[in-house]
Amino acid sequence: MVNLSPSRPIVRPARKLPARTRIAVAAGRAAARFSRRSGLGGGGIIGGRVSLALDPAVLGRLADGRKVVLVTGTNGKTTTALMLAKALGTLGKVAANSDGANLPDGVAAALAARPDAPYAVLEVDETYLPAVARQTRPAVIVLLNLSRDQLDRVGEVRSTERDLRAAFTENPGAAVVANADDVLVASAALAAAHPVWVSPGPGWRGDALSCPRCGNAVLHDGVHWSCPCGLRRPEPQWALDNGELHGPGGRIGLNLRLPGRVNVVNAAFAIAAGHEAGAHVPQAAHAVESISAVAGRYRLIPFGRSTIRLLLAKNPAGWRETLSLLDERRPVVIAVNGREADGRDLSWLWDVEFERLRGRRVVASGERAADLAVRLRYADLPHDVEADPVRALSGLPGTVEVVANYTAFRELNARYGDV
Ligand SMILES: [Zn+2]
Repeated sequence: MVNLSPSRPIVRPARKLPARTRIAVAAGRAAARFSRRSGLGGGGIIGGRVSLALDPAVLGRLADGRKVVLVTGTNGKTTTALMLAKALGTLGKVAANSDGANLPDGVAAALAARPDAPYAVLEVDETYLPAVARQTRPAVIVLLNLSRDQLDRVGEVRSTERDLRAAFTENPGAAVVANADDVLVASAALAAAHPVWVSPGPGWRGDALSCPRCGNAVLHDGVHWSCPCGLRRPEPQWALDNGELHGPGGRIGLNLRLPGRVNVVNAAFAIAAGHEAGAHVPQAAHAVESISAVAGRYRLIPFGRSTIRLLLAKNPAGWRETLSLLDERRPVVIAVNGREADGRDLSWLWDVEFERLRGRRVVASGERAADLAVRLRYADLPHDVEADPVRALSGLPGTVEVVANYTAFRELNARYGDV
């Protein structure tokens, strides 16, 4: 493994792309410019979509000659990819889709935007990982966790596990940095030629009560787990213990500016993957520690005479982590929408332990405030209901924690996040 000092950044030599790819990239840039100027959005996704339509092989061509790291999993992709991009930034320029546009069009746009970057850190939706890996031939793939995203998609997590398993077999050149404590992840990554196991400690296991290989009940004993069929927790090379990361080179303390255990876990994966991609561990850790906000999350935003902290939670596992981050002295506004992107079926609300908010001032908000209020009543949690999150906020003093699901978060962040 080569460690390069940050004073000598690598620059990717200019490459001659085939005419078709050059035209596809140029057309994508023009579409992105047009989209930005017409106020339709950032333009990245439409640009990538145009490029992919004109040259279906554009991802492979744009990735050619770079060291590519793909980051996938149900939760934590955006944060971990940002951390990893910072870690590899100690080695040279990095192309990254840090806006969270994690479908092939967003990936193409990120690569096209930084043609001179010798490194690429790409967040990829788990269902697109096999297709993106086939084209970009990654050096490292990070698989954080696998759980159901919305209840509508509950059956899918197991087929995703099988598809990822096949993708790892297809890419023997990739080191797969994977969660040893997550049964579904381990089942998939055991197919990798070069797995690198990370133990973040036990977490959400609601979706892996039965073995993905044989259907028997998985037996858990602390962090250890095993199934009668022989599937068992692999021995980790990296493990978190009381906020310290133990790795092949010794232990390292992590002092993150981002809150919560969930981000210490993301940092562990970013540092382990950075090491696989050639980064020097202390420098990578230092770069990761410097991050204070991720795509609008965690930042304190002034709001009238008070301050809000905006947090995103998209699925039961994500809500569990996010509720554990909340400051217990602050009032909480929970904003839940039920649009297509959120999943229209909100029965997952019953899997979230809102009971943990007892003793705080709670306001149920969002377009589906009424559904949330029913859940809170069953949790025996006193609360107010105000469907408009802005009105819900305006009556509350001091710093207010706002936990929102996807479209509710997106709207609040667009309105207040960039103040
Ligand atoms: Zn089994």
